Amino acid sequence: MSDIFAASDLLDDGATFRALTPPARLSVFGDPVAHSKSPAFHNAALRAAGIDAQYVKIHVRPEEAAAAFRALPGADFLGTNVTLPHKAAALATVDEADDYATKSGAVNTVLVQGERLHGFNTDGPGFVRAIREEFSADVRDLRIMLLGAGGGAGRAIAVQCAMENCERLVLVNRTAEKATALARELAPWFRSDRLVGPIDRLAAIPHELAAIRAQLEHVDLVVNASAVGMKHSDPALIPPALLTANLMVYDAVYATGKTRLILDAESSGARAAGGLSMLLHQGALSFEIWFNRPAPLAAMRAALLAA
Ligand code: NAP
Repeated sequence: MSDIFAASDLLDDGATFRALTPPARLSVFGDPVAHSKSPAFHNAALRAAGIDAQYVKIHVRPEEAAAAFRALPGADFLGTNVTLPHKAAALATVDEADDYATKSGAVNTVLVQGERLHGFNTDGPGFVRAIREEFSADVRDLRIMLLGAGGGAGRAIAVQCAMENCERLVLVNRTAEKATALARELAPWFRSDRLVGPIDRLAAIPHELAAIRAQLEHVDLVVNASAVGMKHSDPALIPPALLTANLMVYDAVYATGKTRLILDAESSGARAAGGLSMLLHQGALSFEIWFNRPAPLAAMRAALLAA
């Protein structure tokens, strides 16, 4: 049997999922979904916690999304994760969503309670935990430059940084208008003068060398949330000469090896880390939402690294 199920399997009352051993009661919805590493570490978590359920991949096409979400209670599901392109559809379909999911415009975790669907987004909180784990630093204390601010991951991280009231946020995007529009939206969070000095707490700049260079002097953490770095042939996002030893660099790209940005940062003496920790922590937070108890993080981490 294929390890990828279809939305239609949910619509027949979930008999397909109840017949599995253990029964499938959690999933990830995506299109495509084959690449998802979530089943590997969520099934490890379920085994470690002694929960008699499994987590499966469900291929859900955009036109099937609303019906698939609504079918979850009838199929005895506890919830689901949501990946591209369904995060906005999930927000539009759930009965209620938490504040961060609403503000970020995306739901990546659905909790079923009776007939009701509750939406959460663990991407931003997962980022905060990842930064704490990797650098022993709190997002609220940092001056952050976010590359790829115009994408879905960039938006999730930017909204979280704003809600954490981080010291500074510099939004960088190839299509500069997207960064400017996001800055306009986030401006209310940055009105107070946390920093003494002439430099704005919130800035939006194009992905251009001179603009990046000028801002890097006033930044502690550089985050890559752009799609650049997924392939080894990708160009350098920031010229290595601009990366200095005082910086922390977090590459949200979840490659198993080191990306070019991480290698360049390490060569310059900066501390650097890759996106697996964000993936792990957003998953751990989903587990905590579904089961209201701490996630078995060691088992999840081992499964993710092995996947
Ligand atoms: P997306 O919505 O397609 O966004 C892509 C972003 O990359 C946009 O801001 C885009 O700028 C920028 N970009 C693309 N090509 C570029 C180039 N050549 N130079 C400069 N900027 C470029 O993708 P996404 O879903 O946000 O994902 C982005 C990355 O985040 C992926 O690498 C993904 O693996 C990673 N991610 C990691 C996690 C995690 O848990 N670690 C979670 C989610 C995503 P324009 O606006 O100008 O097109």
